[in-house]
Amino acid sequence: MMTIGVQSDSFTVRRIFCIGRNYPEHAAELANEIPSEPVVFMKPLTCLVPPGAPIPYPPYGNDLHHEIEVVLHIGEECVAIDEDHARQVIDGIALGVDLTLRDVQSALKKKGLPWEKAKSFDGSSPLGDFVPLTENIDLNDIAFSLHVNGSLRQKGNTGQTLFSMTRLVALLSTLWKLLPGDVIYTGTPSGVASLQPGDRIDIESPLLRPATWTVVETHHK
Ligand code: ZN
Repeated sequence: MMTIGVQSDSFTVRRIFCIGRNYPEHAAELANEIPSEPVVFMKPLTCLVPPGAPIPYPPYGNDLHHEIEVVLHIGEECVAIDEDHARQVIDGIALGVDLTLRDVQSALKKKGLPWEKAKSFDGSSPLGDFVPLTENIDLNDIAFSLHVNGSLRQKGNTGQTLFSMTRLVALLSTLWKLLPGDVIYTGTPSGVASLQPGDRIDIESPLLRPATWTVVETHHK
């Protein structure tokens, strides 16, 4: 089991924020409205899965979806900052997967209930290693992709978002005091689809660290 609060190198994770419906084509594929402000939810640290560790298929639910996302790491405390300042408080960037039990989420959505059962189960946040955010990384032009068993499932670019990386940080900082160790999963492009036990997930980007996971069956399912 990974040590809570430690991710890799000098990057520590203390809170996990997630943004929903930030790519118009993904919102459309799930027949969701295009939001006028970001959809925000959180996951506990117990969701994290480091690169290479097994991802347990949840013991309930029957439609586990992958959502590849660019993940930002906050390096300093900030409150109500503007977008111009936002880049300075991001000190690391990675790829991650926001795993979702789509069947459970659909049932919860219909009843207007919270999403934790669908989004915050153990192992629902595979997270790759961070790289420092250096000047050569254009936050509005990060290409990334996800393959399952070698087949391309999702391909995106941060230039396609409704809310840019810096705008998300600025907006979140008006809602919460952001702290060192906060990470933000910034939403997924289209192409989300089902995973099965035994599936191998590969995520990659020309600018970020690649990572690989395998989904494993849970015994009590
Ligand atoms: Zn997501």
